Amino acid sequence: MTNKLTILKYYLKAKLFSKKATQKDYDKQIAYVKKHIPYYKNMDAIPIMDKKTMMEHFDQLNALGIVKSDAMHLALESEKTRDFSQRLKGVTVGLSSGTSGHRGIFLVSDQEQAMWVGNILAKALPKGKIKGHKVAFFMRADSKLYQAIQSKSISFEFFDMYKPIQDNLDKLVSFQPTILVAPPSMLMKIAKTVPDKLSPKRVISIAEVLEYEDSNYIKDKLKQDVIHQIYQCTEGFLGITCDKGTIHINEDFIYLEKEMIDEHRFYPIITDLKRRTQPMIRYRLNDILVMKSSPCSCGSKFIGLEKIEGRQDDIFIFKQNHQEIEVFPDFIRRCMLFINEEIEYRVFQHQNHDITIYISKITDEIKESITKEFRQLANDLGFEIPAFKFLPYEYDFSRKLKRIERERAYAKS
Ligand SMILES: [Zn+2]
Repeated sequence: MTNKLTILKYYLKAKLFSKKATQKDYDKQIAYVKKHIPYYKNMDAIPIMDKKTMMEHFDQLNALGIVKSDAMHLALESEKTRDFSQRLKGVTVGLSSGTSGHRGIFLVSDQEQAMWVGNILAKALPKGKIKGHKVAFFMRADSKLYQAIQSKSISFEFFDMYKPIQDNLDKLVSFQPTILVAPPSMLMKIAKTVPDKLSPKRVISIAEVLEYEDSNYIKDKLKQDVIHQIYQCTEGFLGITCDKGTIHINEDFIYLEKEMIDEHRFYPIITDLKRRTQPMIRYRLNDILVMKSSPCSCGSKFIGLEKIEGRQDDIFIFKQNHQEIEVFPDFIRRCMLFINEEIEYRVFQHQNHDITIYISKITDEIKESITKEFRQLANDLGFEIPAFKFLPYEYDFSRKLKRIERERAYAKS
């Protein structure tokens, strides 16, 4: 059980003593991993890490000697049974489909979860009093993590995106959140259907990238000055918007190196200065970040981003009796979770509901596994399974990368 006092401690720490990490902080973390993480022992220069290497050397890259097959087994079981309470050597194991396409497993201790919650609260809540907030949180999977925030001063309602959209919308309207947290696709749905029945003080977008046009639409409908964004992935809580609407990297506990692509665009290489169970050291992300060309007017010393490229996915539409049902990209990504992490894929839905799956390795086993997951999803959500076919993975890299894409309707304009 995550300790509320621990959360409070990290909340206050982040609120009061937040300053930009230094080379000295970085060196301290490197000294820790050289001592406690087998992979880094006897290493002079610390190499750049990526998800593939991280997964290959999983057993040597955590402090508890947890073996990858055990962690993977537990994570897949949790996904299948939707029971996320199982633990391994006292830590939580999570599975991420990731927007980069590769599957990843992550390990976090209670202490790290408390720190995560404390940091998020410190940075995401409006300035001033925290008492009395009602937070509505839309997520795909339930987690002990979110339950941990429940307390007297803050009420927290979890919305399982696996449930029918209408049920969630009804529940949301009766809950009347002051803070609304959801992926952009869900925020769009809310903004389109029940904007006049809600009056949140703050709206926070998570999990997927919020596109500029969508942000404006949600802002307008839900009467917000800014739509806040949490920049986060398996690799941790990386950044959040300030009151001016700029995403700043959490440079208080993330040591950032930039692999420049051009003058403003770069791949981030991050070192999390706090994580101990499965440290992220010089970890290169696939996201392309675009730096702001001028300092943010909020006065923050942390780097400000113009935007994050390449994480936007589409909602799919399926037939349900004589109606249609919308399915969030997260669910489609989940159908691809059970394939090997080294396989590249892209799922494309045509206007007639049919699906083409582009995949870098096609075997009968893989086809069967994906088909099974789609059938299960169709069964759970009650839609007719469309025709689908498999083709070799191909992608036109001059276009923006979308893993989960629906064909546009070409209306005359
Ligand atoms: Zn700012």
